[in-house]
Amino acid sequence: MQITKADFYTSVYKYEECPRLQQPEIAFSGRSNVGKSSLINRITRQKKLARTSNTPGRTQCLNYYNVDDKFYLVDLPGYGFANVPQKVKADWAELIDTYLRYRENLIGIVQIIDARHKPTKDDKMMVEWLQASGLSFLIVATKVDKISNNKKAKQKKLIYKELNLDQLSNFTFFSAQTGDGTPQLYNYLNSLLNS
Ligand code: GDP
Repeated sequence: MQITKADFYTSVYKYEECPRLQQPEIAFSGRSNVGKSSLINRITRQKKLARTSNTPGRTQCLNYYNVDDKFYLVDLPGYGFANVPQKVKADWAELIDTYLRYRENLIGIVQIIDARHKPTKDDKMMVEWLQASGLSFLIVATKVDKISNNKKAKQKKLIYKELNLDQLSNFTFFSAQTGDGTPQLYNYLNSLLNS
């Protein structure tokens, strides 16, 4: 698969505002600052499609991008900000929860974590939720350019253990800087779109 065109389509602040669409949707999820915008920009080969370095506490929304008129990439708001007002957290949880639970167009989720660290409490909650939902998902451990090959093997073990992954789980390392993992990510998107 190649992505040739990706354009911003709309922002959704309430689940009821989700557009009526023919094409399937693939959601991208991860804690704030994990590298989600950089990953989206890398795989769509655009420098500024998704905004990098979001401001904590700003209004939370789903950003829809039209990819080659084939599918919509849905950028979910980053989770795990410290010092975010309770109301913002509650609104975030409601929006994500409703979207993941009810959105019929949704065919899969790309769940992004940091390759360097043990998955956070929020990462674990998110993955547990995905496992229970029966939705298809790919775990992407990004910023892999920042660790050695030796550490990579150790981190993979740790991530599998912490997130209760097994041989059948979809997993790849990734780097927005070097492009590592891009073919694996494309393969996953392809498999979703062709199934
Ligand atoms: P977001 O909040 O999840 O959208 O995260 P951003 O994409 O804004 O990235 C947060 C920070 O991590 C920025 O300073 C990026 O330049 C950096 N970053 C993101 N991905 C990578 C990566 O693969 N490798 C390295 N070395 N830095 C990255």
